[in-house]
Order: sequence, then structure tokens, then C-alpha cells
Amino acid sequence: IGHSQGAYMKEVRRQLGAVFGLKDFRPNQLEAISATLEGRDVFVLMPTGGGKSLCYQLPAVCTTGKTCGVTVVVSPLTALMEDQVSALTSKGVDAFFWSADSLQHEVSAKLFSGDQRPALLYVTPEKLRASSSCRGLLNKLYRQQQLARFAIDEAHCISTWGQDFRSAYQGLGQLRQDYPNVPIIALTATANERTREDIVDQLQLRNLAFFNQSFNRPNLKYYIKNKTKVLDDIVDFIQKKHANSSGVIYCLSRKSCEQVAGQLGKRGLRADFFHAGLSKEVKNRLLEDWKADKFRIIVATIAFGMGIDKPDVRFVIHHDLPKCMSGYYQETGRAGRDGKPADCVLYYSFKDFKTICWMIENDKERDDPLTPEGIERQKDAAREVVKYCCNISECRRVQVLRHFGQDFDQRDCQGGCDNCLDGRQLVKEDVTIVAINSIDIVQGVSDAGSNITVALLTQYLRGTNASKLRERGGLEDMIGFGTCKGFSKELVELSIDQLLARDILNCRRERQQSGYFTEYVELGQFASSFKKNRERFEVEWRPPPPK
Ligand code: ADP
Ligand code: ZN
Repeated sequence: IGHSQGAYMKEVRRQLGAVFGLKDFRPNQLEAISATLEGRDVFVLMPTGGGKSLCYQLPAVCTTGKTCGVTVVVSPLTALMEDQVSALTSKGVDAFFWSADSLQHEVSAKLFSGDQRPALLYVTPEKLRASSSCRGLLNKLYRQQQLARFAIDEAHCISTWGQDFRSAYQGLGQLRQDYPNVPIIALTATANERTREDIVDQLQLRNLAFFNQSFNRPNLKYYIKNKTKVLDDIVDFIQKKHANSSGVIYCLSRKSCEQVAGQLGKRGLRADFFHAGLSKEVKNRLLEDWKADKFRIIVATIAFGMGIDKPDVRFVIHHDLPKCMSGYYQETGRAGRDGKPADCVLYYSFKDFKTICWMIENDKERDDPLTPEGIERQKDAAREVVKYCCNISECRRVQVLRHFGQDFDQRDCQGGCDNCLDGRQLVKEDVTIVAINSIDIVQGVSDAGSNITVALLTQYLRGTNASKLRERGGLEDMIGFGTCKGFSKELVELSIDQLLARDILNCRRERQQSGYFTEYVELGQFASSFKKNRERFEVEWRPPPPK
């Protein structure tokens, strides 16, 4: 006869405050913790940042469960285990990381020190499989009934269906045979149906308590807009829809945070910027003021967000492209924590992808420079965001949740994203003229030994701002001037962006004497074949409503 659920509750609640200094549980945490304390096998599917570690750390320090002693945590991430061990140690919990067999005497001395306090032992799957001294220690704990449970973190690594497959994880299937009565708690943030079945199968989980927290955030609305007239659009959006709401605007660089905040200020919207270049005191004060609603809009790099828990954020705007889909999900996820409706708007431009690539290649602030594969991986992650932005037919939720391996029925979006909202028809536009003339102009400019920005190219094609162009040396005599008079600025900008995305045009970053960067348009890899083959060039979009 085990302890009653009530007895668990009391100690679990007490330890939550006493050891972890937290007030409440997040969804599914308490349920998962009680189930493992009852001796059941548990499966926890929870988004990154959802609070998976508490699901095994908290039961590990409880003494009222059906099993007691040491919780063995298996994880592939060495750095994360080290962090967790030092965090737990500083909270007065006995936690050890089996990093090398040479530590075995130290670890076992502590684990068998007589008072048999609950403890955590962290180990990689590789060590667990290969180290006989580690297995010896577990066997001894088992014989003494001091093996409380196994926690298998990143459990999807066991499945060959996923990309993160680690062969050592397959050895974990043996745990059930070797330690038949020891409960297992498996945790992951990535699992589609097939992977999930695979995990349950291979770990031989039974009497299973399954906790599946959907990654869907039903109260968030997702919009992607083309990045034209972005500041006008933001001001309009905030004034019309969020005049008195709190919100975050994310930018890629510190400089663009400052510029955007300044521009908004000029247009009568108070916004403060927040980035890693500010002192700790300034950052803390900004945070407090923002949380206390002393000002509403914060313009920030992704340095802003870790541990931010303001419940009533009504909008998150990505002024620039996010670096990866997980980042996008996390950043947008800061909106609407109170469950009330909130808006997530992303301004997309392919140029931002190029900027991100440049940042990845020139990241001087890292202590551990990226390997060439690391660079490619990060670029691929950014490319995934580009694909997401350009997919203007499929529900945003379906796309976002697919990234986390979750199937989502589009009907459940209920008009919660731009692609599901009807009434805004998709329109195909033939912009071959823009393409041909852009190529000619860029060619002509480069033949003349000069260079041209996207903004100038747009003006040039549309035949506007002739005086500025004349200043730059009589460009309007050149071929192509004003050939796209009939197209709106938005459409020309969108066309140029897609020419960049298809590598018909390219853009090159150049540092100016001022220290700032300017991006110049040049011919892309496919410029000449495009012209030679007389290809058609079409873009698909939802035109902005007529003014
Ligand atoms: P995951 O492993 O799911 O990615 P973590 O376990 O690292 O997430 O938790 C993410 C963050 O949430 C941590 O900062 C953690 O302290 C915090 N957290 C977890 N549970 C709670 C809770 N019940 N209340 C407040 N914060 C929590
Ligand atoms: Zn949708």
C-alpha cells in the first residue's frame, strides 16, 4: 500500500517553495510529478522552456514516493547537466555528474554516506552503456532499493525516426530488464506520433501516465507581412489596435533597436530599447519600469526575454527576421501569457536573411568559433524561417507546430493567422519587367564603376526622386529609368526581394567610413541565364488595401 496522493501533494508543494523557490506549477508538472512518485512510468511532452527539468528534479528531492534514493538522469547534453548540477548543489541538493570513471569513488562515497538522502546522478547515455563502474554503482543502489527512478531527458534521441538519433540511447532499452521495478520518466520537446510510439516501445514503458502539452498557443494570432514601409505600418498597427498595450519589438542588431525606438519616439510612441550593450543597472531598471507599465513598448534584441514573465504582453513584432523557428516560437511565445488574445507580426525581407548569414560568419563575440558545419547549420535554421515566411498558403500554426513534430488540424486555427483569414485573396503578378530592368540597371551601374542600394533601385525603376538621382550623377539618362512607373512601391520592393531570394540579384554588405554598413545590389548567379532564357517572373502576394 503506497502513500495517498494527499501525502505526496503536501511534500511536493513544500519542496517546490523550499528547494526551488517557486510558487506554482506550470501545466502538467504537478500531475507528472505525482505519477512518478506513485511509481508509474511517465511520458512528458512539453515545449522547450516549459519546465521539464522540474518534473524529475522535484520528485528526486521528495522522500514520500513509492521508491526512494537516487534519481538517475540520462541526458545527451553535457553542458546542460553541468549547469543543472551546479544549480542544484547551490540549492543544497546532492547532485553529481558522472563525467569520468575516475570520479566513481567520490560519487559512491557520497551516495552511500549512510544517511541516504535523496540525490540525483547525471550521466550521458554513452557513459551509462560503456562504463562498468557506473553500472556497478547502479546495481549496488538497486540491490539496496536506493534507485528511485530513471529520468530520460531528450528521449526522442532513442528513435531513428528523428534527426537527433543517438545510438547509445538504444542501450536504454535494457534498463527495464536490468532494473525491473524502477520507474522511468521520459521527457522530450519533439515527438510526433511515430517517435512517441517508438520511445514507449523501446523503453518498454508500462502503466504509463502520458502528458502531452500541445505547443499550440490558441490565443496568439500570427501574421507575416512584407517588409515595406515597416515603421509606418508598425505605428499604424499600434495606434489603431494597441494604443494602450504592452509589447515587444524584436530587432537583429543593437543599432537597429536604437534606431527603431528613436523613430517611434519621433512619431509619438514612447519606446525604449534594450540590448546586451546596456549596463546591468539600466537593464534592470528598464525591465522594472516596463513590468510596472511605466512605458509600454520595448525594442529589443533577443538578449531580451530569458525569464521574462509579463503576463499581459499584447503584441510581439519581429521588425527583422528571427534566426530560427525555435527562436521565433519562443519570442512570439512571450505574448499573451495571460491567455487573452495577442498579436504576433513578422516583417519579412530576404535581405534580412543575408544579414543573418553575415552575422553568423562574422560573429566575433563567441568564445568558441563555429565550425564550418556549425555555420551551415545556423544558416539552414535561418533558411527555414525564410521558407516559413514565403509559404503564404499553408496555415501558420500548421507550419510552426510541424517544426516541433506536432500535427495540427488547420481547422482549429479558426482564422488565427494571415493565411487562414479569408477575404484577402492571393494575387499573382507578372513582374518580368521589373526583373529585366533591375538586371539592366544593376549591370549599367556596375559598368559605370558605381553601386546602388535597394532603396535607390526602387526609386530608379519607378522614376521617382529624380533630383536625388541626378545628384548621384545623371543616372536618369541611363537605360531603365522609370520603366516600372505603373507598379506600386510595395510591389517593386517585393519583386526585388524575390529576385534576391532566387539569386538573380545578390546583395553585398559594405562597411562605410562611418563604420555603418550599406547593402548594395549586384548581379546574382542566375542573372544572365534568366535574361538569356527570357524567363517570366511572377510574385504571389496579398496586395495591401487601397488607400
Ligand atoms: P525545459 O527543460 O522544458 O526546456 P526548463 O526545465 O529548463 O525547461 O525550465 C525553463 C524555465 O522555466 C526555467 O527557467 C525554470 O526555472 C522555469 N520554470 C520551470 N517550472 C517553473 C514553475 N513551476 N514556475 C516558474 N518557473 C518555472
Ligand atoms: Zn491558420
